[in-house]
Amino acid sequence: MAALCSNSSSEKAGTASEAPSGPEDDFWAGQGPIVLRDPAIKLLSPVSGVEPLSWAEDHRLAACNTNSVSLMELVCDIHSLSQNLVLHRTHIPVPTTTCELKVGSEKDVRAVKESFANSKDPVVSQMIMIDRVINPQCGPLHGVKYTSWSPLGCDKLGRCLLAFLTLDNRLTIHSSHLQLQWTLLLDLTELYGEMLKTRKYSAQNDGTPPVSFKDFDELQRRFRMQTPVRMEWSSLCSMQQVQSDNAHKDINTVLLAVLMENGDVVVWQFSLPLNGKESVVSCSTIKSGVSSPSALTWWQYEHSGRKMSGLIIGSSVGPVKILPVNIKAVKGYFTLRQPVVLWQESDQIPVHNIKCITLFHPHQKCNCSLVVAARGPYIFWCLLLISKAGLNVHNSHITGLHSTPIISMTACHNNGTVLTCSLDGKVKKLTTVFTDLAVEFKQEEIVLPEGVAGRRIHGISISPNSAYLAVLSNEGMNNGFHPVALNYQVQFITFKTPDEAAAKMLDAHCLFRNSDLLDLLRWRILKDKSIPSAYENNLEEKLQTSGSTYLWRLKLFFLRTLHKSMQKTPSEALWQPRRRSGQSLVGDGDEGGGGDEDEMMEDRQGDAEIREREERMKEIGSRIEAVESHLIRENMKKVLGEVYLHTCVTQNTRVPTKGVCDFLTNDPANEDRAAKVLIGHIMNKMNKQTFPEYCALCKEILPFTDCKRAECKNGHRWLRCALSYQACQGVTYRRCLLQDSIASVAEPEDSDWIKKILQGPCIFCDSPFY
Ligand SMILES: [Zn+2]
Ligand SMILES: [Zn+2]
Repeated sequence: MAALCSNSSSEKAGTASEAPSGPEDDFWAGQGPIVLRDPAIKLLSPVSGVEPLSWAEDHRLAACNTNSVSLMELVCDIHSLSQNLVLHRTHIPVPTTTCELKVGSEKDVRAVKESFANSKDPVVSQMIMIDRVINPQCGPLHGVKYTSWSPLGCDKLGRCLLAFLTLDNRLTIHSSHLQLQWTLLLDLTELYGEMLKTRKYSAQNDGTPPVSFKDFDELQRRFRMQTPVRMEWSSLCSMQQVQSDNAHKDINTVLLAVLMENGDVVVWQFSLPLNGKESVVSCSTIKSGVSSPSALTWWQYEHSGRKMSGLIIGSSVGPVKILPVNIKAVKGYFTLRQPVVLWQESDQIPVHNIKCITLFHPHQKCNCSLVVAARGPYIFWCLLLISKAGLNVHNSHITGLHSTPIISMTACHNNGTVLTCSLDGKVKKLTTVFTDLAVEFKQEEIVLPEGVAGRRIHGISISPNSAYLAVLSNEGMNNGFHPVALNYQVQFITFKTPDEAAAKMLDAHCLFRNSDLLDLLRWRILKDKSIPSAYENNLEEKLQTSGSTYLWRLKLFFLRTLHKSMQKTPSEALWQPRRRSGQSLVGDGDEGGGGDEDEMMEDRQGDAEIREREERMKEIGSRIEAVESHLIRENMKKVLGEVYLHTCVTQNTRVPTKGVCDFLTNDPANEDRAAKVLIGHIMNKMNKQTFPEYCALCKEILPFTDCKRAECKNGHRWLRCALSYQACQGVTYRRCLLQDSIASVAEPEDSDWIKKILQGPCIFCDSPFY
């Protein structure tokens, strides 16, 4: 049992009830990877659209319903005492006004529609009356058709954007500039409609004269060419741009491919961060020639420094093919010479969803792309490998997986595991096993925990690092009867154990990107009220060799969570042994006097316990402080390095340079030679000037005595920015997602290197500032 605790403090952790003991370990040993976690999130409206659940790389989950996209952000909250998941909820409503696609001048369109509706030919009149795209008046569809998350790094904060398609065909892009607040950035339906108008709705932008839409087929074509089916984001592409001073600047762009009902694919290219119309770099239309298209995904492949890209398109009548995508101005990107057909047969088995995963082939020693497409109850897979001989394609179908059609599919992008869910609620896991040339799949059924099993599932989605599987469902049949009222909810199932998560976290680089894994660790530490010794030992061992600030941040996270676990929840506090209000928390317990013997005994025992816990908390508190101050010092050195690189002789900057230098020099714990040398150089540059900060209220000097706050001699107090150490005296400042530090706001006149410093993530928790 002693081996369970490594550090001295936990060994003397007092009573048996507090020390980590056998039952706790048994609890975790008895848990498989699949455990249902609380809370379940209720949706207020019925689910709508295809693949209604999707998880972004920045840990936001979108659930589509008839009134809105419900968004849940998984926050690994260091301030929460609850072991449950912490989810911040927001939503983007579906617009109340119906979107009407434009195909010509309003007056002409109305006249033509009327003439078709009154046509003597019942085929034509019926067609137009029941077509809800051409004729939204006949009862527009209200709800979400599909959503797609961009990769990380697309908005101002470096987070993901949401492309949002409604059932009435409005495609928009949203971002959350402020926490829990969404802004519409672009209306692509409107923008594409305007572009089509300038080219007079011709099929190609080549100046061919338009056909009159008095022809029914032409009218239908004009609608279908702008009716999106699905849209998918590419990964980030970086390209070089020549500046006015002939310097080259790397700029990041991202592509959004929109598949239209007529088989066209519209590829939008946006410069990042995406702001609005001015961020549109280009928009091109590619003819795929796929009839009844139903699904698409990007094919992106890297082979000996060359990047290949294309679009994989599936049809609801069967075929799957890759289309070349030539992106002008994106250097270093190549595409196919001609389309590659992956599955040719029009066997009337619809392609529901396609995923493309990049994997390393251990036998062929190169990257390969694994394409999986859900077709009816089957999975069609295809392995693409580029060798000297050209493109190698291996493909096959996995049959016998489900007995009803697959309604949802999700893939873990790091290991190639694919999860499928069929109409009858069965969830299967496919694990990729490489053979000499291609791959095989190991099939397993996921045994859903009680509370999820037997429900009617509409969508599944795996979290970015496969820590959780989210399931969107409603009640199933009860005694052979359908439920009277349907309640839709999103539930979360663990897909990894905390031990697996801990191992992964050691090799990671960013806490924020791994929030889902981190949450499993938070759960375990809060439940155990101790850090498992293996986690702590492995981390310390790694810190000895690497000393990266990421590992220090992970250590800080462990300690903070441990500290939190020792606080009493409000309900626990109510039930603790009676203690008279006159007694102070520390010491003096014996002087209380009075009361009967039993109560005295109880009190003393309770007090001892409390005192012990408080002492332990104090000790952990000081360890937290030590780690924080290490992180602050490391960041100060980084900031000073930037100051040294970017300033000329004697220059005032937003960084209180002299103060930071003095702070580092005066710190007895700081025996860092490199830092001393750097400070010496900077002092030379400063030429004996000090550039002090002044209080905005009384114009007195603000001394740099504390790295978190500043106080002038008249007692005006200001918080210091955690990134630049400047006193934040403006009206606005930003807070990080976990609210453990603040940062000032960059001004337009600030130089680029200052802006870059202020763009950084929180130095304690890696999350962005809002
Ligand atoms: Zn003052
Ligand atoms: Zn933070």
